Amino acid sequence: MAESVELPNRLAILPFRNKVLLPGAIIRIRCTSPSSVKLVEQELWQREEKGLIGILPVRDATETTSVGPTLSPGVATDSGEGSSKIHLGTSDSHKFDGKNQQEFIHWHTRGVAARALHLSRGVEKPSGRVTYIVVLEGLCRFSVQELSTRGTYYTARIASADMTKAEMEQVEQDPDFIVLSRQFKATAMELISLLEQKQKTGARTKVLLETVPVHKLADIFVASFEISFEEQLSMLDSVDVKVRISKATELVDRHLQSIRVAEKITQKVEGQLSKTQKEFFLRQQMRAIKEELGDNDDDEDDVAALERKMEGAGMPPDIWKHAQRELRRLKKMQPQQPGYSSSRVYLELLADLPWQKASEELELDLRAARERLDSDHYGLVKVKQRIIEYLAVRKLKPEARGPVLCFVGPPGVGKTSLASSIAAALGRKFVRISLGGVKDEADIRGHRRTYIGSMPGRLIDGLKRAAICNPVMLLDEIDKTGSDVRGDPASALLEVLDPEQNKTFNDHYLNVPFDLSKVVFVATANRVQPIPPALLDRMEVIELPGYTPEEKLRIAMRHLIPRVLDQHGLNAEYLQIPEAMVKLVIQRYTREAGVRNLERNLASLARAAAVRVAEQEHSLPLTKDVHHLGSPLLESRLADGGEVEMEVIPMGVSNHEISTAFRVSSPFVVDEAMLEKILGPPRYDDKETAERVSSPGVSVGLVWTAFGGEVQFVEATAMVGKGDLHLTGQLGDVIKESAQIALTWVRSRAAELKLASTEGVNLLEGRDVHIHFPAGAVPKDGPSAGVTLVTSLVSLFSQRRVRADTAMTGEMTLRGLVLPVGGIKDKVLAAHRYGIKRVILPERNLKDLVEVPSAVLGNLEILLAKRMEDVLEHAFEGGCPWRQHSKL
Ligand code: ADP
Repeated sequence: MAESVELPNRLAILPFRNKVLLPGAIIRIRCTSPSSVKLVEQELWQREEKGLIGILPVRDATETTSVGPTLSPGVATDSGEGSSKIHLGTSDSHKFDGKNQQEFIHWHTRGVAARALHLSRGVEKPSGRVTYIVVLEGLCRFSVQELSTRGTYYTARIASADMTKAEMEQVEQDPDFIVLSRQFKATAMELISLLEQKQKTGARTKVLLETVPVHKLADIFVASFEISFEEQLSMLDSVDVKVRISKATELVDRHLQSIRVAEKITQKVEGQLSKTQKEFFLRQQMRAIKEELGDNDDDEDDVAALERKMEGAGMPPDIWKHAQRELRRLKKMQPQQPGYSSSRVYLELLADLPWQKASEELELDLRAARERLDSDHYGLVKVKQRIIEYLAVRKLKPEARGPVLCFVGPPGVGKTSLASSIAAALGRKFVRISLGGVKDEADIRGHRRTYIGSMPGRLIDGLKRAAICNPVMLLDEIDKTGSDVRGDPASALLEVLDPEQNKTFNDHYLNVPFDLSKVVFVATANRVQPIPPALLDRMEVIELPGYTPEEKLRIAMRHLIPRVLDQHGLNAEYLQIPEAMVKLVIQRYTREAGVRNLERNLASLARAAAVRVAEQEHSLPLTKDVHHLGSPLLESRLADGGEVEMEVIPMGVSNHEISTAFRVSSPFVVDEAMLEKILGPPRYDDKETAERVSSPGVSVGLVWTAFGGEVQFVEATAMVGKGDLHLTGQLGDVIKESAQIALTWVRSRAAELKLASTEGVNLLEGRDVHIHFPAGAVPKDGPSAGVTLVTSLVSLFSQRRVRADTAMTGEMTLRGLVLPVGGIKDKVLAAHRYGIKRVILPERNLKDLVEVPSAVLGNLEILLAKRMEDVLEHAFEGGCPWRQHSKL
């Protein structure tokens, strides 16, 4: 504590902006401005014996509301009580007190002398600027009598503002002072006791209370609170000890109250907390009571059950350690605590994942596998052969990592069901993961657990569902993944399919590696092109073309009808769909490469039959000869005697029981009328092409889509205009360019083709041409419509119809050469489906015809074209239109 100090007449002045140092307070400041650095250097740092400096509050003039006396440099002020004339030294005032400063700074007339308790000097790099950190202790008040400058800092002539010893002794006798002191001490004591309860620091402060004079205590106490600048100034100005003590009492009391209020609030919050704790204990007690009463429905602690499950999960040692750490964390938490449930769900996943659990590898019986594939699927000879080869390699070398099989083909051709047959042949579980529309890498790899609502990726989720670590996993529609800002799922899939990397597959949610190497992956796709090349590189593509109507018929008769009947609780005794009717369904109601719609239509027939059978039986009393059906359900009823009327079939009775329970006199045979009644009027017929090409300007093309081959009509028309070309039907750039090429070719050959002079009118001049590709909503692109475009233009300008039984495909060069195109097999199959009889193909596509089933080829006339003229020759009845005019 500061003892009484001898004040010199002059003190170097360190201004404190909007802040006050009170006697007894200790403060740490950093001096950076040149003037204060200079001051510290000269007055404190360089002196052997550390002197005193004066701390004088200054306030920004803008916020002057004038509490207490202030002074402006160079202006003599009357500072009220304790007033003195203050002059600023005029010699070098211009150096540091510009006009601006005069306007903005107001010096307070009272300050506090301070001494440095600690000094440290720093040099900033690279500027080399010197700074000081000074710990100052306020000692006693002084009044400024005159302010002047020394070099770059201020000095002041001062006089002590504290009472002299004699004055002090006199005041101490004053009864008012005694009362005030007592009051102050009591309040201070109260504050100390309160703080003592909280921080246990009171003991030292209590000693202070007994040893230090009250007027000094008042300063010390107030200096330790956070109070406003005005209050600090008024405390500084309280030279009279009675005033000072009463002010301090007020401030200490206020501080005391604010602590009490804060404490009340904390208590309230704590009260709420302890309420949840209380609930927890009560619940624990309730559980114990229940246990005592033998009334315990959840007889063991959830967490203990989880722990047991985790122990049985067979985690690798590292992961087990990680899981235990997480479990310990969970055990410390209360169920109501945030994070509890997420931690629990995570641990449940760790416990559920098949770390080691695998389905037993059966000795692979290739004959049985072949039989199974044959019995599940009609045709597909090559595909089945490839699957058998794949299985044979696995049998000989189970650890060999063969390529990932990828079945590519239009929807409904049996890709998924082939994959499930592979699983059955290997005796493993089958898990399907749909990747269609997956754009977010997190779908594959999961979200980190820091995300709200985070989940594992689809692979880990699939494995959890499978509950074994070696299932056959189907990555369905692998060509439909896309990438955007949320990452690239394909790159995550690369890791999955790479035998080197998938041993330690890292799911973000799981956050520990999982071994995927035992999983057998099979993929499906509609098209090869969209699959990223790196991914494609890891797979062996097996193409499944669409089916011919004959194949569809066989598939329907052998596989689909029996399956559909079974699914609807029927059999051939109740519903018969003759072959001729199936053919009609294929021709008139479906026009797809696969058999999915066919299966759907057959299911509609089966549903209608099921309703009829059920309705018929509803009122049909069963006679005793049902007895020998051997249905336990009926037997028990018949045992009760007499006739039984079957009205309600209880749930859970198998399909077989239902069908045997219902016995109709004659089966329900589907005929043509029935077909229309159930499936509606035919959707497609063979006349469609003929009708659509009945006017000149329309030609029939063959295109390739994700759904297999399709027939694509091209319509052209001309009208008065400026010779522009209009194109519609959602066309891509390539197809638009093909149209330009086609028009240019036709124009350049107009005379040769005798188009220009048809009917004496020049069809090409002063006319706009509009070409439209119907099914306007479906985007189209590719070069293979070239020959079709030319044919439709020639048809338009020659006003001759294209043959309705002829479809074509091929790219054309500007010089009229016909170039080969892709997807020939699918296109030819599509033409066949549409009932087209003749197909014009580029000559160089001849080799692709080997892939087309001979049954289809037998029904089609394939015409090969080398040049555009060949196409036109075949496309029009009686040959190329110009032949009639030319003498060639
Ligand atoms: P994809 O996965 O190619 O879209 P699915 O495998 O789902 O097609 O096949 C659709 C339906 O057609 C399934 O019920 C499937 O059994 C059946 N199916 C497809 N091809 C054949 C076939 N060759 N033999 C028997 N059924 C088939």
